[in-house]
Amino acid sequence: MALRFYNTLTQQVDDFVPADGKTVRMYVCGPTVYNFAHIGNLRTFTFQDLLRRWIRARGLETMHVMNITDVDDKIIRSAMAQNVSINDYTRPYEEAFLEDIGTLRIQRPEKLVRATEHIHEMVELIQGLASRGFTYESDGSIYYRISKFEGYGKLSHNDFGGMIAGARVDVDEYDKENARDFVLWKQRKDNEPSWDTPIGDGRPGWHIECSAMAMKYLGETLDIHAGGIDLTFPHHENEIAQSEAVTEKPFARFWIHAEHLIVEGQKMSKSLGNFYTLRDLLQMGYSPEAIRYLLASVPYRNKLNFTFDGLKAAATSIERLRNFELRLKTDRFPEGLDVTAAPRASAALAQFEAAMDDDLNTANALGAVFEYLRETNTAMDAGGFRAANVAGAQALLARMDEVFDVLKPSVTAGALSDGEIDALIAERVAAKKARNFARADGIRAELLEQGVVLEDTKEGTRWKRK
Ligand code: AMP
Ligand code: ZN
Repeated sequence: MALRFYNTLTQQVDDFVPADGKTVRMYVCGPTVYNFAHIGNLRTFTFQDLLRRWIRARGLETMHVMNITDVDDKIIRSAMAQNVSINDYTRPYEEAFLEDIGTLRIQRPEKLVRATEHIHEMVELIQGLASRGFTYESDGSIYYRISKFEGYGKLSHNDFGGMIAGARVDVDEYDKENARDFVLWKQRKDNEPSWDTPIGDGRPGWHIECSAMAMKYLGETLDIHAGGIDLTFPHHENEIAQSEAVTEKPFARFWIHAEHLIVEGQKMSKSLGNFYTLRDLLQMGYSPEAIRYLLASVPYRNKLNFTFDGLKAAATSIERLRNFELRLKTDRFPEGLDVTAAPRASAALAQFEAAMDDDLNTANALGAVFEYLRETNTAMDAGGFRAANVAGAQALLARMDEVFDVLKPSVTAGALSDGEIDALIAERVAAKKARNFARADGIRAELLEQGVVLEDTKEGTRWKRK
């Protein structure tokens, strides 16, 4: 079965192939760098990492662009309140974001682009819209006339028939009750930071940046446009209106939206104050892999209910995977191939891949892996697993880890859990047995760096935290 995704535009799961058959041109709305990202935001970025990794695992290439929103209402308010420039205000948060996605092993897109470095492209696009009659001016600002764009509402499947022509919104974010003409270019107010351009001294509205940057780097029709579900309206609806009014071509073939991470039934958000940053969780001793696993394990179209029990369960799942991996490396299995065990590995691999192809059903994909682990551990205990079966089992783990990327312990960030320390010690014992003393010493050094001291005794290795 083919690779397929739920497309918000068609409201169904559609088979996916990139337009040129080879390279997937995808754009994902990036962070607004006005504060630290919370793990709700990071769920959306973990989703796009899975999307990207699975596309690549399937042999396609990616040209993946992500924007950094470094100018908007909130940023301007905060920068002015602290009396610093937009750049000085946003750069530390941009760095923190890049560090966070690195910690979570989220691969960098091929291109990361800042809004403030594309003002020229935005101005040109607004000029293009103006020449086609899609804009008007009011009090020095420029607005998009949504009644002129026939398809308005086609992505969010809202009927905007009753909207009031000529009513306007100036703010960057609003809900669907406020379907109004939105601002493309805001005239400078007071001492606000601004750009002096042919369309006036001012700054862009939020939506124009994504149309301008996506089309600059990816062409007029993208294969995939993705983001969090809250961006469907108004942000993505407005992106379509801006782009298609000028190109008269579909802006994106697939629109893929990730559901929210919620806490006690409510969306995790800065404004509700119910949020944890990645740094909060690391400080509490959770590992980056456990957080990544939790964010990845719930299929992206389901709401993810964040709990500490869920996070602990994620850590336990990783331990089971690592213990199994270790067992494959260290157990002495009888020579030869067990013919009952062999097809179990290939069937699990096929199930894993089919689940990922099916709109990235990560829960079913992991389910196939754990079912295999359970059966295989039992088979191993009963002597029904031989040396020549190891490669098949390792191939399954490797395929899983190509997308989930949780097997290798992080040794640079966060505190290690007891299970992780035990796993590393077991790996060290195995390395010594195999006379790989460099690896054994390397593990001792890694643990020491994490504040864990080893003591080799007759009974085995003991450890303590410094
Ligand atoms: P922002 O930095 O606010 O522009 O948001 C960055 C991304 O995080 C966007 O794609 C949002 O849709 C997404 N997002 C915001 N809150 C949540 C949440 N609670 N769960 C999942 N994604 C979220
Ligand atoms: Zn965007």
